[in-house]
Amino acid sequence: MKCCYHPDQEAEGSCAYCAVPLCKTCLVDAKPNNGYCLTCLRQKQFARTFNYLRLFVWFAGIAWMILAYFIFEPTQGGDWSYALAFSVLGPVVAVIINRLMFHVFIRLILSNLKPQQKFFVAFFRFSLTGKKNFYSQALNAINQVPNPEVYKDAFYERFIAVLILQPFALPANWSANVSKAWKLSEEEMLLELLTYGREIFLINIFKNHHYQAITTFIELLKRTARKDLYNELIDSIMARLEHVDLEEIKRYQPHKVANRIVLQAKQQEPQKVLVDKAFLTELKLIEEELETFLMKENRLKDWREIAEISKQLQLPMIPKATFEAARYPGINHLSWP
Ligand SMILES: [Zn+2]
Ligand SMILES: [Zn+2]
Repeated sequence: MKCCYHPDQEAEGSCAYCAVPLCKTCLVDAKPNNGYCLTCLRQKQFARTFNYLRLFVWFAGIAWMILAYFIFEPTQGGDWSYALAFSVLGPVVAVIINRLMFHVFIRLILSNLKPQQKFFVAFFRFSLTGKKNFYSQALNAINQVPNPEVYKDAFYERFIAVLILQPFALPANWSANVSKAWKLSEEEMLLELLTYGREIFLINIFKNHHYQAITTFIELLKRTARKDLYNELIDSIMARLEHVDLEEIKRYQPHKVANRIVLQAKQQEPQKVLVDKAFLTELKLIEEELETFLMKENRLKDWREIAEISKQLQLPMIPKATFEAARYPGINHLSWP
């Protein structure tokens, strides 16, 4: 893996706070700062001021509300509707200012970086947080990178991490946007992402339980028309299905007893149940997609097996939370072959 700040150098460790991969030089620089990378250090320095400012804006908003009371003095025959409109304005303006300040804050913590560093660090932060600000910052920065081809490997690594960790935060037109920014044709980029990422996808989906990544992996396989790899993925899904303990999952599902919904097992679900649930949740989310493919490939038997199991599980209200719960503590980053 490449260093986020020096995308032409191999990484030898990572930031103690945000986990960006760091090269030897960066690690030496981070050591006296609790192992924090450049951006984290800057963020820490800014955060204090930012929090004070935020408190101040809230304070001003509330002071405004109290002021409204004295200006309109309803007890002296003033108009309540004016007082109300005037006082509500205080907190509303405070919320707006605080939101704007947050955008400025995110811009500032990356502002001292070179364009190529900004690009990689922003994409890394997007892969961990899913915050759209980082996505657009990364895309803006790329246009200023002098010689993008030098950082090709780092680009594919960073972007595959985004595809695996943030399939839900990615905008629908990601491949058009990103390939344009990287000055590649869409087909070219998708093919290279697949060649580069096939193994990384499989390891992280099935060994690190990042099942949400099946969605983006299938999108890549479809758009590059790699039916062989699609079939290979289905084989892995079928093999994984054999290890699902459905009875155990059901013990932790809310179920009805005489028209009352009862949670049977209230204690913390074991890790095995959490990961099985995340896997089945993903299968449910891509049910139609799988059905179409398996029909065409004459794999109806496999389809029935998937459908049978998926019928017995309710889709969780927030699938994203199910995927997050399935991650082993600390595995926010990925494994690389
Ligand atoms: Zn960091
Ligand atoms: Zn470095």
